[in-house]
Amino acid sequence: MIFKKCDSFYFTFLPLEINRNTLNSYSNQREMQNKITSLFKIKYPIVQGGMIWCSGWELASAVSNAGGLGIIGSGSMYPHILDEHITKCKQATDKPFAVNLPMLYPSIEEHIETIIKHRVPIVFTSAGNPKTYTARLKEHGITVVHVIASSKFAKKAADAGVDAIVAEGFEAGGHNGREETTTLCLIPKIAQEVQIPIIAAGGIGTGKAMLAAMNLGADGVQMGSRFVACEESSAHINFKNRVIQSVEGDTKLTLKDLTPVRLMKNEFYNKIEQSYVEQKDANYRAELLGRGRAKKGMFEGDLVEGELEIGQVASLFDTILPAAEIIKQVIQEFEEAKALQNSERFTF
Ligand code: NDP
Ligand code: NDP
Repeated sequence: MIFKKCDSFYFTFLPLEINRNTLNSYSNQREMQNKITSLFKIKYPIVQGGMIWCSGWELASAVSNAGGLGIIGSGSMYPHILDEHITKCKQATDKPFAVNLPMLYPSIEEHIETIIKHRVPIVFTSAGNPKTYTARLKEHGITVVHVIASSKFAKKAADAGVDAIVAEGFEAGGHNGREETTTLCLIPKIAQEVQIPIIAAGGIGTGKAMLAAMNLGADGVQMGSRFVACEESSAHINFKNRVIQSVEGDTKLTLKDLTPVRLMKNEFYNKIEQSYVEQKDANYRAELLGRGRAKKGMFEGDLVEGELEIGQVASLFDTILPAAEIIKQVIQEFEEAKALQNSERFTF
């Protein structure tokens, strides 16, 4: 076996005559050491996206127990609910986990106090200026990661002193960048611009995509949509089933004049589109959106009128699996794809 140290990853080139059993034993035993696994003290450089209504303590602890980094999505939680979820997460895992803190959140100060009180080791901030809270969180020994969708904001996050960034491309579900840069274009650009570790997100749900992202310069990956349709996700079963039945073209980036969001097409989406055709203004769309649409769709299972945030990658999956099985499959596929890089497929 040949080991080659690469900037972002220790690539392990496996013999060509490798078989599935050998790969199984590699993926079960081998620790993947790189900047991201060292930073978070985890086994695999796989992060579960912190998603509103879908990622409570049950999902976060299952991912962390399986060797990835689980994240509690605090954007949909009132402060006492977050407190409860952190407490339950700590009881369910002794591994590191994180909390995602969307800065648009109305009770953010209370969330920060709760995070500090519980000594949560890692916080992923998003949808706001990374300068606002990074220093304060780091004073408490918390590792801070910020989510961005362009190289301009990647530089701002690095200047603000964050420990790593999540670079999220156009394919991603939920809130999305205005520039519409795809993951394929975003990661290499950001790798040129910043020195801190990069976690690629958007369109990643398989081991092949993980390897591709790391070849482009990422040090780890974040997967959201893959974990929505997962046994431990708190998404409504209607939404999980809709996700695994989805086909190409089912999602769309919309509401760019409010906050751009990728969601699944349904009656609610059709009403938004119609409002653009009728040249209604942004206020009309804000009213149409109203309050609690995401809860209605993703948590209560209203597939017609709810807001169903999901990424393009959803069309690749057709089964609801436990989180540990998803991670096992992704790592196995990653190893297989990595072995293939050295095979006849690329000898030209
Ligand atoms: P509970 O159902 O007892 O939930 C604990 C508390 O969370 C309750 O106060 C409950 O409110 C509230 N709650 C439940 N779901 C949500 C939600 N999606 N968003 C905001 N608040 C919520 O038991 P568990 O803690 O075992 O949770 C059950 C499932 O729901 C788990 O899979 C968990 O991960 C998930 N969950 C997800 C949350 C999120 O993503 N925001 C939050 C809470 C739970 P109520 O009194 O209205 O039932
Ligand atoms: P809305 O304004 O439509 O509704 C607020 C929802 O959040 C309600 O369902 C409410 O639950 C729940 N909620 C939890 N805590 C609070 C609180 N302290 N005050 C008011 N409402 C609260 O917002 P969205 O559902 O669209 O988004 C909710 C949050 O998630 C926002 O902070 C937003 O920035 C964030 N978000 C982040 C995304 C991302 O980072 N990718 C994607 C989408 C949203 P209830 O109905 O039980 O009152």
